[in-house]
Amino acid sequence: KQNGESGGGSRILVFVRLRPMGKKEREIGARCCVRIVNRRDVYLTEFATENDYLRLKRLRGRHFTFDASFPESTTQLEVYSTTTAELVEAVLEGRNGSVFCYGATGAGKTYTMLGTVENPGVMVLAIKDLFNKIRQRSCDGNHVVHLSYLEVYNETVRDLLSPGRPLVLREDKQGIVAAGLTQYRAYSTDEVMALLQQGNQNRTTEPTRANETSSRSHAILQVMVEYHAKDASNNIVNRVGKLSLIDLAGSERALATDQRTLRSLEGANINKSLLALSSCINALVEGKKHIPFRNSKLTQLLKDSLGGACNTVMIANISPSNHSFGETQNTLHWADRAKEI
Ligand code: ADP
Ligand code: MG
Repeated sequence: KQNGESGGGSRILVFVRLRPMGKKEREIGARCCVRIVNRRDVYLTEFATENDYLRLKRLRGRHFTFDASFPESTTQLEVYSTTTAELVEAVLEGRNGSVFCYGATGAGKTYTMLGTVENPGVMVLAIKDLFNKIRQRSCDGNHVVHLSYLEVYNETVRDLLSPGRPLVLREDKQGIVAAGLTQYRAYSTDEVMALLQQGNQNRTTEPTRANETSSRSHAILQVMVEYHAKDASNNIVNRVGKLSLIDLAGSERALATDQRTLRSLEGANINKSLLALSSCINALVEGKKHIPFRNSKLTQLLKDSLGGACNTVMIANISPSNHSFGETQNTLHWADRAKEI
């Protein structure tokens, strides 16, 4: 696929990241059911679930290929460089881009996007790289960077940098904006990790498990870069680029929702946002005239980051454990479809 194919159409790059086996998984004797070969090919193996380990056997194997597939040993920096560095370059040129992490709860989305203090993820590495590149270019103009960090939970939009009442989405000349959303002016990388960690703490938690972020919460970091300069003939040049980095809700809810419980409302709404996202991406890459952005809060917010002169990157996160086989299979199927379009 070529960048800018068919008159500025979107391109989608699809990546898969396998996380290492967790401590708990090892303790319960989980087996690895995913193998990544040549940084591209993903092999999925289903094991029999009998207790008799001697009879444990391969049932079905499946093979997928992506733009790149990251084995468990892949560093945060490698993931950033392969998936997102190019988009940071584009944003400096005044274009928009978006990076999504998709996958079941526990598959590694937040680790990939936010990461830890020791191993910062794509959000932090992108901002660091952005400031480095701005410094290299600083002689030829003035760059201003603003950050917004927000959450879509149960079709309600909240400001993660300044928690409070839900935000109302409004359509104005610039497109759809969340009224009153904090635009944090960032000057350096140092302050950003703490800011984002704090923002992540502000994400909605499960009522029953107060310390865990809800698997139904979508977190969106938007990085706006404005550029002002004068060209050779003293004309003023202004350009604006926007990079959206999205830690999506757990995809398992999009597949299995219980209609009867209270939770079903939330489940249905997440389903709505993820489904709406899928149909927008489908419509965009097929070159359809009508893109159904209006169908969810998530797609309304991402309207200007998905269409037109915009690059889109998907990172599908998966667990190696055979106990997550079903979710992994679903995630890989979904990613495979996103790649085809
Ligand atoms: P999700 O956001 O998809 O629910 P998390 O990012 O919270 O999943 O990951 C679940 C757990 O696995 C966390 O404890 C996280 O630190 C760990 N983890 C995920 N990916 C990696 C990785 N690539 N390397 C090391 N630990 C990881
Ligand atoms: Mg998470």
